Amino acid sequence: MSSIERARRYSRTKERLGIFGTLLGLLVGVLFLLSGGARATARRSLPRRGSNLPRRGLFTSLLLAGGWLAGLPLAYLSGYIVEHRFGLSRQSRAGWFADQLKGQAIGLAFALPVVEGLYWIIGRWRYWWLIVTVVTIPLTTLIAQLFPILIAPRFNSYTPLDDEELAERLKRLAARTGIEVAGVMTMDMSRRTSKANAFFTGLGPTRRIVLSDTLLEQFSPAEIEVIVAHEIAHQANRDIWRFIGLGGVFTLATSFVTDRVLKSALRRWGNALVGTRSIADIRSLPALSLAFGVANLLLAPLQLAYSRELERRADAFALALTRDPDAFSSAMLRLAETNLADPAPSRLRVWLLYSHPSIAERIARADASRGFDHEPDESDGPITN
Ligand SMILES: [Zn+2]
Repeated sequence: MSSIERARRYSRTKERLGIFGTLLGLLVGVLFLLSGGARATARRSLPRRGSNLPRRGLFTSLLLAGGWLAGLPLAYLSGYIVEHRFGLSRQSRAGWFADQLKGQAIGLAFALPVVEGLYWIIGRWRYWWLIVTVVTIPLTTLIAQLFPILIAPRFNSYTPLDDEELAERLKRLAARTGIEVAGVMTMDMSRRTSKANAFFTGLGPTRRIVLSDTLLEQFSPAEIEVIVAHEIAHQANRDIWRFIGLGGVFTLATSFVTDRVLKSALRRWGNALVGTRSIADIRSLPALSLAFGVANLLLAPLQLAYSRELERRADAFALALTRDPDAFSSAMLRLAETNLADPAPSRLRVWLLYSHPSIAERIARADASRGFDHEPDESDGPITN
């Protein structure tokens, strides 16, 4: 099998499993409501109205654990079996399960206060969806800041990059755009996978460039430079804030629609399905999360389209900064090879599932950029040809 054929098969398998998993998740959610499972869970864990905090915590934990267990077989198939079959994963089965458990424990630690806070807000304000939106923005920012400090180190170890020449080269590259970098780190991604990655972590003066050890093994310094230039572009364009802003707009839309739809649905079927007719009662949580899930799914293509646009702009910025379309193209091809990305997926697949333009499109744009001699600050807008 050629490497392109292998990449195509891997991408399709992963995408199909992803779509199937999403639909299955919705189906399980609907069946959980219709079968009386949601009401029974509420009755057992929340015997009385106004149940206390530990009881409500138990209820939330049971729902999360149930959802996780329902999705576990498919997660194992996609995240362990398929990854091994295509020779990407270097993880043992025990290691994979340990990651899952760790992820769930962290997810629960976040979810419990978030759910409590959400119902506290719903119980106090009629326009709860407005308050939730206002609160979500600083909360997302806080999580984005805490993630590299509290969570990422529990899954990987981060050490300063040995190769001082490369570190200097990357810092100089960032400095040319006015981005200060506290250091260049490497991360032991090879513990789990042969895939490669590079990203920024931290905000402001603690900002660091992180390169996976797999990237350092397989990519030339010039290729690493254009990949990092792309990441620098995200920093220079403040893409994280754009995403947080878009997230705020989406939260407003989804929670407003959820409020309208769910309130009337609960008045009619609430007692039978979840054991309450009030959206402010935590018993409504299974219905509320299903409604949020459907709303987010409907908005996903919009979010992906926006993300692809930001990625195009970051590519244009990286090309203008490095003026090395050859290194850009060979880095893209190598990424397709190491990460088994389908270089030319169909338009529909891109529209439904891709946060980045296809490798073929990215290389075509790099070719088209030849002959342009932009300064990086002129390339703020997308290159449209
Ligand atoms: Zn990017």
